[in-house]
Amino acid sequence: MTTVLISGASVAGPALALNLCGRGFDVTVVERAPALRPGGHAVDVRGVALDVADRMGILAELQAMRTRMRGMSMLDADGNELFRSEEYAASSGRLDSPDLEVLREDLTGLLHARTVAAGVEYVFDDTVTALTETAGGVRVEFQHGAPRDFDLVVGADGLHSTTRRLAFGPEEDFVHHLGVYVAVYTMENILDLDEWQVWVQAPGAGGGIYPARGNTELRVNLGFESAPIEGFHRDRDAQRKELARRYEGLGWEFPRLIEGALAAPDFYCDAMAQVKMDTWTRGRTTLLGDAGYCPSPLSGQGTSLALVGAWVLAEELGRASVPEALTAYETRMRPFAEINQALVANQPGSPEADAAITHAKFAITL
Ligand SMILES: Cc1cc2nc3c(=O)[nH]c(=O)nc-3n(C[C@H](O)[C@H](O)[C@H](O)COP(=O)(O)OP(=O)(O)OC[C@H]3O[C@@H](n4cnc5c(N)ncnc54)[C@H](O)[C@@H]3O)c2cc1C
Repeated sequence: MTTVLISGASVAGPALALNLCGRGFDVTVVERAPALRPGGHAVDVRGVALDVADRMGILAELQAMRTRMRGMSMLDADGNELFRSEEYAASSGRLDSPDLEVLREDLTGLLHARTVAAGVEYVFDDTVTALTETAGGVRVEFQHGAPRDFDLVVGADGLHSTTRRLAFGPEEDFVHHLGVYVAVYTMENILDLDEWQVWVQAPGAGGGIYPARGNTELRVNLGFESAPIEGFHRDRDAQRKELARRYEGLGWEFPRLIEGALAAPDFYCDAMAQVKMDTWTRGRTTLLGDAGYCPSPLSGQGTSLALVGAWVLAEELGRASVPEALTAYETRMRPFAEINQALVANQPGSPEADAAITHAKFAITL
């Protein structure tokens, strides 16, 4: 049986694991965090990713867990409403669209539960530290576990992928910063929002806030403009401090929202960035999802790309040898990844973005 190691248990990794175990592969997933990482903004499953979700057998569950916003308000930095819409929400686009918006942690929880039930092995609290090509496989060393041999290694370990660094070189060669950081976290519904989003624009900062879990909590998503900050993505204290500094002196409800950021256990902050590479494969190691072709949350397509990539890679592995499958995966996925990366030029949910997503559908065949 072909053995596969997947690094990263968020969206791309477990989606690939689910698709592979249905095709008779022996799959292990290693995740650096001690458990599935909670939190995150609502993420979108759109266009061709809906067809993939259907083929994966998770579409009905995604439909049941979708967010149900009634609309949104856009405020200025003093809390004055600039406009409101009952047809559109900035995070997900048109409310009558067939696209699905789900909380990231609900999607990862679903994929994890399905793969555990299918026999996928998960190793938490560990990370790959070295990859050595052998005849027909890869010898993998781990920070904690004993070395193991696999027929294929897939890096699904996100924007700051360790697999990419080990197989291809330093992050700076591939990650393109887009000039903005975004913090995402959960707190009490202090604004009493009822299935309603609020977006706020302030000079150099701003974000969106909406309720989740039956209006019992708020998901807060605050951004600030900044050049890349060295060593920032692993330093949660530095992220919280920087966010508080950037919002200091701003009015409206920002002070209470920043208090929430300081207390939130699921606080997450990262750069809006894209990953661009000439190839995603080196020997028997390949990259999937954000690790290989992150389009950035500004595109609204990161999760859809991860799901489609996981489907295409599994399908190709199911019908050819590992080297042939990796070539076919890249040939099919690259135009679709590139067209989605180009979406950052459009406001998510705008007619231009909707048209581009429809166009993107034809950049891949399932
Ligand atoms: C906690 C969290 C919150 C997020 N919030 C948002 C959000 O609000 N909005 C948005 O658009 N996108 C968000 N994302 C990113 C979004 O999930 C991805 O853009 C998209 O779904 C593609 O997923 P991915 O699986 O390729 O990468 P990611 O979702 O980034 O997952 C990568 C996974 O790999 C793990 N990992 C990293 N390094 C290693 C290592 N060395 N060894 C093993 N495992 C490793 C990470 O812990 C993570 O579980 C978030 C990601 C995370 C992890």
